[in-house]
Amino acid sequence: MTHPVTIGVLALQGAVQPHKSHIEAAGAAFRAVKTPEDFAAVDAFILPGGESTTMLKLIENFGLWDSLLENFRKKPIWGICAGCILLADTVTDPAQKSFGILPITVRRNGYGRQIDSHIADIQNYPVSFIRAPIITKIGPGVETLAAHEGDPVWLAQGKNMVTTFHPELTLEYPSPMHRLFIEGVKGG
Ligand code: GLN
Repeated sequence: MTHPVTIGVLALQGAVQPHKSHIEAAGAAFRAVKTPEDFAAVDAFILPGGESTTMLKLIENFGLWDSLLENFRKKPIWGICAGCILLADTVTDPAQKSFGILPITVRRNGYGRQIDSHIADIQNYPVSFIRAPIITKIGPGVETLAAHEGDPVWLAQGKNMVTTFHPELTLEYPSPMHRLFIEGVKGG
């Protein structure tokens, strides 16, 4: 790709703005996206962390499902925490609708409700697990890039990625996860 790449962060709910400095430090442009016109204009997507049920409701209320699915199928996408839940093909505890972009099963709030959140080092970079899901099943063609306490927490399939943690809240730019995702998008 010769033109500078633009990463669209879905801006319906959740941690959107913290991605800006990471994306720019990795040599790409940031755009908060929420309309089909925005979706068509970007090279790749980040589906941020937040609350997957709320995001689902907003996607359906604004009639964005079909347009998002069409774009997710043809451009690289990275789902973070709630975003990982939305990209899975199967969601449990409880079951809910998802885009089925990656062949993975995800259990919501996998670490329980008491120990909701913690910080851990993933590849020497501190990241936040916030009411994080646990990936309980991985289909063919999905590569585990990092595990934490025995569970896969960073997966890739081609240029698509999911992380069950938030790297964007760490103020050291860019995170290794943003760097790898954006290198993949640029390589396209
Ligand atoms: N527990 C949230 C959900 O189920 C995800 C939390 C997050 O994105 N940090 O959607």
